[in-house]
Amino acid sequence: MLKAYENFFRRVKEKKAGNKAKAGFPRFKSIDQYRSITYPQDNGAFSIEGDGRKTMLRVSRIGRVRLEPHRQMEGKIKTMTIKRAAGKYYAIFTTVKGIEQRKIKDINPVGIDLGLDSFITMSDGTKVEKPKFVKRAEKRIAKWQRRIARRHKGSKRREKAKSKLQKKWEYVTNQSNDFAHKLSHELVNSGYTSFTVEKLGVNNMVKNRRLAQSIQNASWNRFINMLSYKAESAGMKVIRVDARDTTQECSSCHYIKKWEERLTLEDRTYHCNVCGMAMDRDVNASINILHRATTLGQRGSHAQGESVRPQREAVLEELRTYPANNRGSLGL
Ligand SMILES: [Zn+2]
Repeated sequence: MLKAYENFFRRVKEKKAGNKAKAGFPRFKSIDQYRSITYPQDNGAFSIEGDGRKTMLRVSRIGRVRLEPHRQMEGKIKTMTIKRAAGKYYAIFTTVKGIEQRKIKDINPVGIDLGLDSFITMSDGTKVEKPKFVKRAEKRIAKWQRRIARRHKGSKRREKAKSKLQKKWEYVTNQSNDFAHKLSHELVNSGYTSFTVEKLGVNNMVKNRRLAQSIQNASWNRFINMLSYKAESAGMKVIRVDARDTTQECSSCHYIKKWEERLTLEDRTYHCNVCGMAMDRDVNASINILHRATTLGQRGSHAQGESVRPQREAVLEELRTYPANNRGSLGL
C-alpha cells in the first residue's frame, strides 16, 4: 500500500517534470482483497487530532486510532477512505487545494483582431498569417462536399465521399489544434501581459454558410480558448469585448464611418476623413479592440472580462482522471 502510494507520487512528480508518465492513482489488484470504506466528505465523521508527538485519527462510532502519516498533508481534507490490506489498516485522504493565482502587472496589453486575411492582427502591428494547411484543406473539403452533393443519396459512392470528407475534417481539426496550441503558447511567452479579443458570438461570427468560413470560425474559437487557458494559467487576463464597428472606427479620433463611407472587405487601409489618419485596416481594428477593454472599464474586472476558466480548484484526487496527453484541453 505504501509502495503503491510512493509509486503514485513518483508518477505525479515525473509528470510535473514534463514526463509522459501517467499519473494514475494506485490501482489495486482486486476489490476482494481489501475491505474499504469511504467517508465522502469531511462532515465531522472523522477528524485528525495531534498533540505534536503523535497524530490520532478520530472516526465517529469507531473511535480513535493512531495515525502514522506517510507524508505531509496539504490543503483541506475532502474525503477519507479506510482500507485494509494484508492485515493492516490504511487511511487515504484526498485534499482540495486552491491554486495560487499569480497575477502579472498589466504593462504590455495587446489587442487582437481576428481577420479573414491574416489569422490574427495585433495592436502592435504584428500579423500572423493563416496557415497554409487551412487554405489547402478548405479547397479539398469544398471539393468533397461538391461531390457528395452530386452523388445519389444512399449510393455507395456517396457514402465513400462522405467518409473521405470526414477524414479531411479530422485532419484539418488536428492541424488547427496544433496551430492554435503553438500560437497561443508563443503569444503568452512573448512579453504581452494581457490580451483583449473580440467576443465571438452569433452576431459577429462570419455569417456565411460557406465551409471555408466555418473552418475559420472553429479555428478562431479553438485559438481563443487555448489562449485564455494559457494566459490565465500564467496570471494574465484575457478580456473579451464587443467588436461591433471596430473595423469602421478610427483608432485615432474614434469617428465611426457612416454607412456610405464604410470599408468593404476589399479595402485594406483605413482612411479617416475626419483626422486624416491612414492605417492598415486590421491593425486599426485591433487597436480599437484593445481600447475597448479600457473604455468599457473591463480592464481589471474579471466579472465582465468573461474569463473562460472559472476560479480554479485543483482536486488532487482528480489527478488520476487526467490522461497524460490531454491536460487543459477544455473540451476544445
Ligand atoms: Zn480619425
